[in-house]
Amino acid sequence: MILDVSQLIQNDGAVKELDFSSTLDNLSFNGQDIVFETPFHLKGAVKNIAGVLYLNLTADVSFTTQCARCLDSVSVHFPFEISEAFSKAEPDTEDDDITVLESGNIDLDEVIERAFVGALPINYLCSEDCKGLCPVCGCNLNHETCTCDSDNTDPRLAVLKQFLKD
Ligand SMILES: [Zn+2]
Ligand SMILES: [Zn+2]
Repeated sequence: MILDVSQLIQNDGAVKELDFSSTLDNLSFNGQDIVFETPFHLKGAVKNIAGVLYLNLTADVSFTTQCARCLDSVSVHFPFEISEAFSKAEPDTEDDDITVLESGNIDLDEVIERAFVGALPINYLCSEDCKGLCPVCGCNLNHETCTCDSDNTDPRLAVLKQFLKD
């Protein structure tokens, strides 16, 4: 969604309340696919304070992704905050957090995606004690057991197994 702020930026003290939904394309993050199950819901306001537009939104979305260990699907409800500042010209202050507007518009989808990706944790696990995949046969150790060698195999047994394999 494109927000036209050409009027707002002229009026110090002006406020525009926002309450909207937005749909973004699915994305890939740290090798995990993020598949959105709902649109993003956003609520908040953009305020002109001394010529700088402050955008503050609470956002939430639901998505599915994969467990980083076992690759099972994980459903996530993800509330997050969006807080950005925009100005028309290069601000006088050394504040790097103020984005200079190229036009009279704010591309909210771009803002949402940036904030969303910035708020995501490194990865998701289906559960804290996910057993992951067997490194040998690839079976999901949460659901199956296999007879492959694993790190905690008795070393004498491992030698025997290696012998039998040869
Ligand atoms: Zn898992
Ligand atoms: Zn296995």
